[in-house]
Amino acid sequence: MPYPPALLDTLAGRPTILPNANAAHALRQAYSDRQRSSSIAAWQPPDVFSWDQFLESLWSEAIVNGSETRLLLSPAQEHALWLDVLALKPPPSALASPDALANLAGSAWSLVHAYEAHPRLRLTALSHDTRTFADWADLFRRECVRHQYLTRAELASALTEHLTHRTLTVPSELLLLGFLEHTPAAQRLLSALRDAGCVIDEQHLPQSNTAAHQIITPDETTELQAAAARARTLLEENPQSHIAVILPDTSEAPALDSVFRELLAPELELVTADTSSTPWEMPDAGPLSTQSLVATALDLLRLTTGPLELPKISALLLSPYLNSPEARLQAARFDTAVVRTTMLLRPEFELNTLHRLTQATPSAPSWIANIHTLLTPSPLEGQRTFADWAGLTRSILQTAGWPSSRTLNPLEQQAQEAFDAALDTISTLDFRGRRVPFTTFLTRLIRQCAEPFHPASTNAPIQVLSINAALAQSFDHLILLRSTDANYPAKERAHPLLSFALQADTDMPGAKPERAAERAQSTLRSLLQNSTSTTFTFARQTASGEQRFSPLLTSLASPQSLDPATPHSEPPIALEALQEPSLPPLPAAEVIGGARVLKLQAACGFQAFAAIRLRSEEPRSITAGFDALESGNFLHKTMERFWRAVKTQKNLRNMSHDERLQLLTDCINLSIPARLIADTDWERSYLSLQKDRLRRVLNTWLTKELDRSPFTVLDSEKPAQIPIGPLSLSVRIDRIDQLEDGGFVFVDYKTGYSVDPRQWDGDRPDDPQLPLYSLLMQPEELKGLAFARIRAGEEMKWTGMQSEENILPIPRGSVTDIDSAIEEWRSILTTLATDFAAGAATVNPKDVNLNCTHCVERLICRINPEAFLAPSADEATDEGAQ
Ligand code: SF4
Repeated sequence: MPYPPALLDTLAGRPTILPNANAAHALRQAYSDRQRSSSIAAWQPPDVFSWDQFLESLWSEAIVNGSETRLLLSPAQEHALWLDVLALKPPPSALASPDALANLAGSAWSLVHAYEAHPRLRLTALSHDTRTFADWADLFRRECVRHQYLTRAELASALTEHLTHRTLTVPSELLLLGFLEHTPAAQRLLSALRDAGCVIDEQHLPQSNTAAHQIITPDETTELQAAAARARTLLEENPQSHIAVILPDTSEAPALDSVFRELLAPELELVTADTSSTPWEMPDAGPLSTQSLVATALDLLRLTTGPLELPKISALLLSPYLNSPEARLQAARFDTAVVRTTMLLRPEFELNTLHRLTQATPSAPSWIANIHTLLTPSPLEGQRTFADWAGLTRSILQTAGWPSSRTLNPLEQQAQEAFDAALDTISTLDFRGRRVPFTTFLTRLIRQCAEPFHPASTNAPIQVLSINAALAQSFDHLILLRSTDANYPAKERAHPLLSFALQADTDMPGAKPERAAERAQSTLRSLLQNSTSTTFTFARQTASGEQRFSPLLTSLASPQSLDPATPHSEPPIALEALQEPSLPPLPAAEVIGGARVLKLQAACGFQAFAAIRLRSEEPRSITAGFDALESGNFLHKTMERFWRAVKTQKNLRNMSHDERLQLLTDCINLSIPARLIADTDWERSYLSLQKDRLRRVLNTWLTKELDRSPFTVLDSEKPAQIPIGPLSLSVRIDRIDQLEDGGFVFVDYKTGYSVDPRQWDGDRPDDPQLPLYSLLMQPEELKGLAFARIRAGEEMKWTGMQSEENILPIPRGSVTDIDSAIEEWRSILTTLATDFAAGAATVNPKDVNLNCTHCVERLICRINPEAFLAPSADEATDEGAQ
């Protein structure tokens, strides 16, 4: 163990205080391990506290002995009080939210009391911001005095008063271990303790002889991998080692966690793996609200008060905390087949909308109906106490079945307990005796859950810590990440709500650069001396440029260079070793997907195989307003209705402008899908705008229909079955026009940009839809294939091919021998259909940029785009010549 036995022996006799809770826990653990290794069956835990725990224990004694009656505010209560003060005296112009301002005011309040600067606060407040804070502090203090509140920042001073007046008994002796300095308020308290007869022994942890190494890597990701490899090597050499990994910016903890998973415990990479017992521990597990069990509860509560975004609705439907394992598959089907196909103009759902959908789906998750019943009529109206709302919240969650009947793993259990504690903490906000609406309660609960989640330590051999959390602890090995001059010494900043003169006079952090350097040096020296070996790592190059090893660390340690260990990796599997698997035959010649089957097969065999045969599809998403598919359908339906009514170009020509507009308006109104949900003013306005836009675009388009040779619309949206090779494809033809002097034209409505008849060319046509339709025709019957490009502006036009001029208003070069083209397409499309039926699923995109960029199969095809994007020698030469 890194703690010397002589130190552990002294713990049983006297209370021991350490600067932080991490250090106190580590020392208690070291004591227990030693007792266990000495075969002692039972022992009295030592009195080892953090400084804050020690103050709270003295305060509890003052309460118990009756010498104190004030309410010691919890951080949540103090925050609520600051919010009240800010509401009484709002800042003239605030860019920050009230919560952020309350946090800032709270931190300034803590500083002025820790450095005993409060008597001079008003005198030194000369700028606008400092005067504003001085006003807030006066109001805050008056509220505290009026209601007999005490803040944690004032605790040391209050205890000093009790000791001075002998209203508090003190321990006969205390050991203070690992403190680098004390604030003035703490110094006064320690003096008062000594004056009251307490013998205080201040010690530092015994120093070790530190061997230092340095690992330099080319980039930051490699640095994390090198640190993980170093930790693994150290553990392999001695599995009993205690290793601290120091991370200057703890927001990088998730990235480090993922590297550790890959290199230290690959079995935990599975999303279903229980990660409550890893060989490493992170500084904290992030905010409580990021634990999926708590995120589920909060999203469920948000759903009771208003609409929730589609991704969150899906997360609730798939959550293991609301659905049993058996019900989750049904819930996933409900999500993809019902929820995501609902026609909405906003990508969010209210509880009522969701409930309406469940009524038509017997297999829908039962929790939706259960909470809907509980909330009908809504008990969330009106104002209640925080404790009442907390009780109702528990009922809602219980009714929904949260957190499910399955056995929770230890981490989930702790998250559930922490959430329960958060509800209890919010209930204490009733200290102001107010009633609030449910939305206020929920806002406070969400804020409370944004606090860090500290699961119980598993005493893992690798501890990932910030510098301050690592102080006053002893380790076998220390790995200091990001050891550059940008991180060491750490920057100190002056507080923006306190005058600079006040901060400098009282020696607050950030006011004097020379004091900041001294503090950083003594902190780092202490950290390095408490470990037997240290490894510094840093990346030579980062996004901010070239990096330099910290001169401060060089002066403290003079490290020797060490080569980064090569991360373990599995050898790649040789492709030749893979056997070509035999494919099951197609179950039937009729394949769902129409012309898309051939389009995908032409683009990439694997894409067609995955999308059509494996049914690998992305769940449909709902965007704000109409998406491209909905806009297209809206236009198709309108045109279908219009031409069913008008039938011929001649009739169109004979209509007056007003008649044409009126018919378009009627067709548009009838084409709005009946199942489209448009309940709000925004949705109704959006719909009206879209109708108006479509009317104007189609009215312009109809003038283009008059530019053609005379025709009759024979059919619209006509279903057909087209045999092609071994397949039979179902299609729906947008429009078939019959020309006055014989022959037909196929029309395809298009609203996108990328429409070009050249997409019909080659062995791998990008858009084989119209070529496929053409196979339905007998020789000399087909006179034209046309894209009706219906877009506002100059893009609106006819494109395609025709067998003779003036059938369509398209350029001269579009005249083609259509019968020959059909024969060529028949051969090409038959090959594609045969390949698809035979399971030709090669990963071979026709154009990586075009086909792969938005391809949802990319996850499973594992393509390496660089292999396809590497320019040929010719291309490189061409580019160079330009
Ligand atoms: S990402 Fe590219 S290579 Fe992979 S399946 Fe899609 S189109 Fe084919």
